[in-house]
Amino acid sequence: MATLPIRIWGDPVLKKRASAVDRLTTHDKQLIADMIETMVEADGAGLAAPQVGVSKRIFVFRRGEDIHVIINPKIIHRDGRKIGDEGCLSIPGVQAKVERAARVTITGRDDKGKVLTLECEDGEEQGRAATCVQHELDHLDGVLYVEKAQPETLSWLIEATDEEGEEIIETVAVEADDVLAAYKRRHLPKNLHILPMLKKRIMRK
Ligand code: ZN
Repeated sequence: MATLPIRIWGDPVLKKRASAVDRLTTHDKQLIADMIETMVEADGAGLAAPQVGVSKRIFVFRRGEDIHVIINPKIIHRDGRKIGDEGCLSIPGVQAKVERAARVTITGRDDKGKVLTLECEDGEEQGRAATCVQHELDHLDGVLYVEKAQPETLSWLIEATDEEGEEIIETVAVEADDVLAAYKRRHLPKNLHILPMLKKRIMRK
């Protein structure tokens, strides 16, 4: 197993619609194992194959304590609405509020080829599972959450200290175009709250 380089916003693979997987090859199985390792290493809630440069309809995600793999996923039921903060490993150091279905049922195949159907709902038991599967499925269609977010809520996450000297994360409003330009120019805000592995990735692009 190996961790894979995460593609950053601006990479064309993130805007492509990914292809369905007909038959899972040994190569795909290796990809899935590496995607899980990469997600765990980056402490992400989910990771879609295009985020590691592979345009196939596969994603991995957390649902409570479990990590699932889903191939050719489809949402077959959705109900309720909710608004929550989202982030993305491919758009590091940023968050925004997105409106999503509160509960979804997702179906697809697991890495053994068996049909997998899961009801997902955000909460204590499952973490952000419902948000996550909707966000990851969008990745397979070349859609990034910043395109669905409420634009006025888009913010950089900046590390700061409060009056008592406690470390805090401040949000600083930013426009989507400026985020994209910052990654492209390798010029990130000072004290950006970003994983070192992702910062390195942007700086050497
Ligand atoms: Zn994402």
